Amino acid sequence: MSTGPSVPHDLTTAEMVARQKEALDRLVQAAEQSFQEKQVASTRRDWCNPIPVQRKVDTVQAFLKAFHDEETMEIAACSVCYLQRRPRDLVCVDWRRAVPHEIQPIMAGVLGCRRCFPEEDGEAVVPICHTCQATFDRGRVPDACLGSTMLIGCEHKYPKELRDLTPLEEKLISLNTAYGFITKFNIQRSQQTGPTYRKHVAGHITVFPNDVESLASKILPHPLVSTLKQVHVIWTGLERPAPRDVSKLLSVRPGALRSALGWLLSHNHLYADVIINEHEM
Ligand SMILES: [Zn+2]
Ligand SMILES: [Zn+2]
Repeated sequence: MSTGPSVPHDLTTAEMVARQKEALDRLVQAAEQSFQEKQVASTRRDWCNPIPVQRKVDTVQAFLKAFHDEETMEIAACSVCYLQRRPRDLVCVDWRRAVPHEIQPIMAGVLGCRRCFPEEDGEAVVPICHTCQATFDRGRVPDACLGSTMLIGCEHKYPKELRDLTPLEEKLISLNTAYGFITKFNIQRSQQTGPTYRKHVAGHITVFPNDVESLASKILPHPLVSTLKQVHVIWTGLERPAPRDVSKLLSVRPGALRSALGWLLSHNHLYADVIINEHEM
């Protein structure tokens, strides 16, 4: 229990004892009232009454509405810390003013990308999460940006060999893969390009060895058939995508895989002793 600033924190003072007694009385009263309400409901045999159909319908509808509410799904990302956030937890601010000038040089690794942090007037407004915003207000670098995040940078630093892989292609060539992920795909029906989605997401994530058997023999890519068994996509949103919209998203291009694996073999030491299975390509 807290006291006002003028009252000393002394449990033996009479006032403190009186306040504790008061708080305890309130708790006992609340518990007593709740018990009485349940006792009355029990005497009335309320529990025998069937749940009204309208309440069932309302509950299901409310659940579905909440389930499909994009404002509550962690599908947006903070431009600074890259953590996935609910859209309602982001504010769009001019990053040049939001990030204190004295820490901008320290954060040059993150702020250096002109696509993530445009400098032109009217373009410099980016989504920033409340946590980063509050840390900037205290003149400090957000915790999530410290360490490797500062060096990894944004998704625009990806080499072109890895940049445009589909989620299925990524899954086929990863040594470890997440059980699942929630993301927002942007489908541009007017354009021939496939759906785009944010590839670089920061935060804690649990990954599993992609395919133990294939991994043991160090052969990539993993057989497509076993991967297809593991792929399940759940869509939310008002519009269901047509097969044409999804085909690019779930496609596998041997050429793209070959060049991505080639890049990983020469740049990522974890892939150094992986043998590429040319027959699978
Ligand atoms: Zn943030
Ligand atoms: Zn960027």
